[in-house]
Amino acid sequence: MKPQGTQLSLFETRSSSDPFAVRVSPRARRLTARVHVGGRVEIVVPMGVHAHIVRDFVKRFTPWIDRKVAAMQSFVAPSEPVPGSIEFALTEERFAVEWRRESKRGLDQGTDRIVVRASDEGGARALLQAWLKKAAYERLAPRLLQLAQELNCSVDRVAIRCQRTRWGSCSTRGTVSLNCSLLFLPLEVVRYLFVHELAHTKHMNHSPKFWGLVEKIEPDYRRLDRALLAGWRTVPGWVFKT
Ligand SMILES: [Zn+2]
Repeated sequence: MKPQGTQLSLFETRSSSDPFAVRVSPRARRLTARVHVGGRVEIVVPMGVHAHIVRDFVKRFTPWIDRKVAAMQSFVAPSEPVPGSIEFALTEERFAVEWRRESKRGLDQGTDRIVVRASDEGGARALLQAWLKKAAYERLAPRLLQLAQELNCSVDRVAIRCQRTRWGSCSTRGTVSLNCSLLFLPLEVVRYLFVHELAHTKHMNHSPKFWGLVEKIEPDYRRLDRALLAGWRTVPGWVFKT
């Protein structure tokens, strides 16, 4: 029993273009969504369940599925030891990376080229990670502070983190933390994350009031929120400490 038609229409209910499979199982008691390591999604359907029920189910659980997919994909981000090039979608910058196996460690950055000197892979990677953190601060902090001023939000401090789990956060003390991986996302998505965190300076929760404020500043926030979640897969593996 292969619901081909079902598969196609289900696909259309998803905002992102992630492929996923529908499997009809005689043993299944209820509809379930499974997200496998790597981000593959499988919808398990009991026998005799109508396509529209499945469609509604997928629709309802799309935010959950997207979150899960993002998480499962970031788990298996390919661990490229030292990249040959680095591209920032945010600023449309591209740097060719040259790794010289030299014992004296260092990193030099030109307009479109980075030379990293380290005798081993781990050393080269650590230098690039430190460089990325600084590059992120230089490119993200001024943009965030500018927007904060426009929106009349108070930000005391901008901190850069390089973690796999979240794009940003906002503390009650007015520190906005931003993930260095935002550099790999397009400007509109980064701007949405800024709007999201700045809205937290007014509402420290995800209440309807909070989302109302977000929507007022960025009416297209739903699409951008999904793009942000899906954004983990565009982050190269070398960025994270293993
Ligand atoms: Zn939030």
